[in-house]
Amino acid sequence: MAIPLAVNADQRQVVAPAAANLRSAAEPAFMPGFKTDPYWWDAAPRLHEAERPLPSSADTVVIGSGYTGLSAALTLARAGREVCVLEQESVGFGASSRNFGMLGRQYKFDLTTLIQKFGIERAKALYEGCNQAFAFVNGLIEREGIECFHAPSGRYVAANTPAHLDGLEKELSARKEHFGHAFHMISRADQPTELVTEKFIGGAVIPEHRTVHPGLFHNGLAERVRGAGAVIHSGTRVVSMKRSGDGWRVETSRGAVAARHLVAATNGYTGKATPWLRRRVVPIRAYMIATEPLDPAVLAGVLPGKRGFHDCAHEMEYARISPDGSRLIYGALTGEVHDDLRQVALTLRAKMLRLFPQLGAVRVGHVWTGRCAGTFDYFPHRGRHEGMHYAMGYCFGAGMPFGTWLGDAIARGILGEPAQTPLDHPEMPSNPLYWGRPWFLPLYLRYQAWLDWKDGIRA
Ligand SMILES: Cc1cc2nc3c(=O)[nH]c(=O)nc-3n(C[C@H](O)[C@H](O)[C@H](O)COP(=O)(O)OP(=O)(O)OC[C@H]3O[C@@H](n4cnc5c(N)ncnc54)[C@H](O)[C@@H]3O)c2cc1C
Repeated sequence: MAIPLAVNADQRQVVAPAAANLRSAAEPAFMPGFKTDPYWWDAAPRLHEAERPLPSSADTVVIGSGYTGLSAALTLARAGREVCVLEQESVGFGASSRNFGMLGRQYKFDLTTLIQKFGIERAKALYEGCNQAFAFVNGLIEREGIECFHAPSGRYVAANTPAHLDGLEKELSARKEHFGHAFHMISRADQPTELVTEKFIGGAVIPEHRTVHPGLFHNGLAERVRGAGAVIHSGTRVVSMKRSGDGWRVETSRGAVAARHLVAATNGYTGKATPWLRRRVVPIRAYMIATEPLDPAVLAGVLPGKRGFHDCAHEMEYARISPDGSRLIYGALTGEVHDDLRQVALTLRAKMLRLFPQLGAVRVGHVWTGRCAGTFDYFPHRGRHEGMHYAMGYCFGAGMPFGTWLGDAIARGILGEPAQTPLDHPEMPSNPLYWGRPWFLPLYLRYQAWLDWKDGIRA
C-alpha cells in the first residue's frame, strides 16, 4: 500500500546488521532524535482541531475521541444526528493512537475457561461477542477504505512452558471445534520459522489475526467522522454533567453544552468527571519501544514469519515489525507504574536484547506509554448508568475490536435500533475499597510474577 510514512532524514538511515552488532555497549542506547512519543505518531501525528466555539446544544455529546467515541459518533452522524465529540487532549490522544496494532478475538478469559465457568451455551454466547467485534472492526476498515496497513499477518503465541503449550493446543482446538477458527502448532525445532529466540519451547500460529497501523486507523476513522458532519473539539475537558429535563447539561473547560444523549468513551483515561465509572475501571499502563530503522535481514533474523508475537507469561512480552518493515516494536512491563520514560526505554531494551541477543547494539528510536482499562469481572462492558451510555473495560488485544463494535452498538441503541450484545451485562461491578486509584496493582503484579516464577519462568 503506498502510504508515505513521515520519516525524517535521521530515521531514514539503515543500520547494516554487521554494523549494528559491532557497535560497542558503551555507545548510546538512543538514536539521534529519540522520542518519548508513540512511533505511530510519526506517520499519524496527533492534531488539535481548529478551535471553534462549542455549540450550546447537540443531540449527542461523546466524551473521548478514541475508537469507541469515534465509532459511536460515525454511526450517529451518518444517521443525521448532531454529534459533538469532546476530547481533553489532542484528537485520539489516548490508547487508540498508542497500542500494539494487533486485531484478534479474545477476552481476558480463554474460551476453555469460559466453558468451565459458565457452561458451553453461555460460554459460546459470550465468545460470540469476540467474533462479532472482530468482524465489525475488519468490516469497518474495509468498508470505509481506511488505509492503515490492515493485513492478515497472523499471530504467533509462544509457549514459555510445556503446560502453556498444552493449554494453547487445548484452547485453540476448542475455538476450532466450536467456531472453526484455524490454527497450527509449532514445535520448538520449527520455531525459528516464526521467532528466533532461545526463550520459548514452541507455540501456535493463528493465521487469521491481523495487524494495523493504529495511528493511521484512528486518523482514518476521525476523517470519516468529520466527513459525516460530527464536530470534534480537542482541548476540551468534560468536568461534570448533570441531568437537565430529559437530557444533560455537560460542563467543560470551555463552557457548557446541552445534550439529549451522553456517551462516555474514556476507557483507561476515565477520570473524576464520571465518578461512577471511575470506580469500575482500573487504569493499566503499558509500555512499548520502537528500534531505530534496521536492515530487513536483521528483522528477518528475529521475526521471520512477520507476525505479531506474544508469549503466555503473566508478565507478557510482545513484538512485531512496523508496517513499513523498518523497525522492531517491542512491549513489556504492563501494569507497572513508571514516569521516567527514558529509564523505561533502557529497561525494555535490555529485556528485548535478552530475548533477541542477535539485535546486538541496536538503538531505541521511540518509547511511549498508554493506558487501557481493566474491570473487576475482567469483561468489557457496554451499558447505561442513570441515562449515560458507556462502553469500556477493554485491554490489550481487544480494544480495537471491542471499542469500535461497542461504540457502534451504543449509537444504534440511541437510534432505537436493536443492538444487543453479549456484553450488555446488567451490572458493572466495583469494589468497596476502590475509588479510582489502583493501589492494589503492585500487589497484583507481584502475585503474577510469583505465578510465573512458580511455573519456572525467569525474566
Ligand atoms: C500499549 C497498549 C497496547 C495495546 N495493544 C492493543 C492491541 O494490540 N490490539 C487491541 O485491540 N487493543 C490494544 N490495546 C487496547 C486499545 O488500544 C484500547 O482498548 C482502545 O484504544 C480504547 O479505545 P477508547 O476509545 O475506548 O479509549 P481511548 O483511545 O483511550 O480514548 C479515551 C479518550 O478519552 C479522553 N478523555 C478522558 N476523560 C476525558 C474528559 N473528562 N473529557 C474529555 N476527554 C476525556 C482521553 O484523553 C482519551 O483520548 C492496547 C492498549 C495499550 C495501552
